[in-house]
Amino acid sequence: MSPQNILELHAPAKINLSLEILYRRDDGFHELKTVMQELAFGDLLHMAEMPEGHLKLYCDDPVLPTGKENLAFQAASLLRDHYAPTRGASLTLYKRIPVAAGLGGGSSDAAAVLKGLNKLWKLNLQLEPLQELAAELGSDVPFFLHGKTALAAGRGERIAPLPTLPPIPVLLISLPGQVLSTALVYRSLRWDKIKSGENTGNLIWLLTEGWERIKDKNDWVPQLYHFMINDLETGAFALAGNLSSLKEELQQMGLMPLLSGSGPTFFALCPDSDKLRAMGDELSAKGYRVILTTFAQESGVRNQDAE
Ligand code: ATP
Repeated sequence: MSPQNILELHAPAKINLSLEILYRRDDGFHELKTVMQELAFGDLLHMAEMPEGHLKLYCDDPVLPTGKENLAFQAASLLRDHYAPTRGASLTLYKRIPVAAGLGGGSSDAAAVLKGLNKLWKLNLQLEPLQELAAELGSDVPFFLHGKTALAAGRGERIAPLPTLPPIPVLLISLPGQVLSTALVYRSLRWDKIKSGENTGNLIWLLTEGWERIKDKNDWVPQLYHFMINDLETGAFALAGNLSSLKEELQQMGLMPLLSGSGPTFFALCPDSDKLRAMGDELSAKGYRVILTTFAQESGVRNQDAE
């Protein structure tokens, strides 16, 4: 194996700064408006070329499948079948993002594989064909092709990039082992508590036009919180009662937690990372799973075309 043909990729986690559900569509999907934010923390993927269309996935998390049920494998197989039937690859996935946690781990792995194999196999595909494959793989995959901060609309597949936010500190908090099925959360939605999508519109205004007016960087977080919302909290809380008690407990500590995606992970922003770290230590001592990270500043392939 020649070393030029090895890539290392970072597959970041995401949070939803806003997630609003506009309505349920005739095709059964929900029409969404969500501002997604890539995080600095994520999975790691190594990719190496293999001969003759052969695909193999290794993963350090024994819970995850390594065959076609794995989104990373699915992405490789879809790209190969469409654009490179004779190419092969061996993928190694170092899983760091908690699984089924609302942090987009599987989708991010899939997008990283599309980006990485496009380079490894020298396909030179532009964003559009990759975007079509991404939408086939899952609603969150197109976002990860862009990364950073972006608005996702439709089922999540229509992406409009937004200005990159500064590296704001983020604490992720969840109960170890708790997972939530996205489908069940949608089925448990409390429509009587869902409003109009206005917050996301205001958030976009803040990020595109209002941002310039904020002089003190410590004001960024309260300004964001003004419009942050997640309509899926109504469904997740109806499904898992312990989540609303966890939210209250976090609020009593002075955090402002919001569910990421369909949960069960909460995130909280704070301009003071030392304060966030101290709270994280406290929660960790109580048995919660906590991860301290920041908004991402760079995305995608890390060490391409290694010497
Ligand atoms: P979603 O909202 O799409 O369910 P999520 O961020 O909550 O996403 P993921 O970590 O992507 O959750 O896991 C969702 C499901 O996808 C799990 O049941 C898991 O078994 C499956 N899965 C397939 N491939 C992967 C992967 N590479 N990493 C994580 N999960 C994967």
